[in-house]
Amino acid sequence: MKVPVNAPVITPAAKKYVADAMETGWVSSAGPYIDKFEKAFADYIGVKHAISVTSGTAALHIALLSLKIGPGDEVIVPDFTMIASIFAIIYTGATPVFVDVEPDTYNIDVSLIEKKITKKTKAIMPVHIYGHSVDMDPLIALAKKHKLHVVEDAAEAHGALYRSKKCGSMGTFGCFSFYGNKIITTGEGGMIVTNDNALADYARRLKDLAHNPEKRFWHDEVGYNYRMTNLQAACGLGQLESIEEFLAHKRWMTAEYEKRLGKIKGLRLPVTKPYATNVYWMYSILVTEEFPLSRDELRAALKEKGVDTRDFFPSSAQQPVIQKLYGAKEHCPVSEKIAQQGLYLPSGLALTQKELDYVCDAILSVSKS
Ligand SMILES: *Cc1c(COP(=O)(O)O)cnc(C)c1O
Repeated sequence: MKVPVNAPVITPAAKKYVADAMETGWVSSAGPYIDKFEKAFADYIGVKHAISVTSGTAALHIALLSLKIGPGDEVIVPDFTMIASIFAIIYTGATPVFVDVEPDTYNIDVSLIEKKITKKTKAIMPVHIYGHSVDMDPLIALAKKHKLHVVEDAAEAHGALYRSKKCGSMGTFGCFSFYGNKIITTGEGGMIVTNDNALADYARRLKDLAHNPEKRFWHDEVGYNYRMTNLQAACGLGQLESIEEFLAHKRWMTAEYEKRLGKIKGLRLPVTKPYATNVYWMYSILVTEEFPLSRDELRAALKEKGVDTRDFFPSSAQQPVIQKLYGAKEHCPVSEKIAQQGLYLPSGLALTQKELDYVCDAILSVSKS
């Protein structure tokens, strides 16, 4: 048996809408599905505006640019994240400032943020990692105290809640990804959400070559072509109609993995804090010192049995590109440790009971050998 780490589900509605978009000839970024998808997504997240873009990375880039973040500024970001969070900051010319993460949720440790704030700090970028909300109340209080913007990276957290609020709806901007392994996919794609009318207008302008609003083809500043296509939006709209089923599938997967792996000594399973409604984007475990094999050995043994897994992201501060740009800075010990021990198991929306059982049996047999 071969079990992929992730396979998406493309719903019948998504296929139908994409075929419709194809047949009408609206294949580029004009067309009715853009508007429909943006409105439906804004409603789902509970915000006034949703602005579609080409990727989650583009969403973060435009959000930061809309806040006039650029050279000389600093943006606070968790050390443990997908590199796109960091690159978006670097694209603007600002400098990423890394903060270590919590050992249980892997999210930014809010208690470590304040000492990283300087006169140059313009924003904090919390990342709701693996679908578990960051502890937002203290983070937003800190941002208010220091007059900083909050740009949420919710690329892994469609539908996740912090208390009763959707992830992505609490910052000045929230940013989502629709890459193939995300909870909703448009192939490639992203969305910026905000409640601020003026910022929404500005973000819309920046992602579409920054035409002067009074005079099209007249440009006062540099813009970008980060426009989503009507085809992608058609796919996204169809997917969004099934999001409750997708989230239910993630909960089912989590309950099954917990039932089967909970008793294996040395594996640390994901936690959910009382303030969070976790969407378990990826089922992420730590292979601790008490497990008979190292993370790398477990990963290789599973690979041999046809089970594909992924390591956690490496510490961002330790990435060669970051070292090259900014030199060796201080270490983030928690982030570095989970990078060594973390593994995520097959977690896609197409994962079947049979596949899940096979994965658990494989881990069980390896843990006994
Ligand atoms: C996937 C992801 C992104 C980037 O999204 P793309 O659509 O791949 O550009 C950014 N941040 C996080 C945390 C992600 O997981």
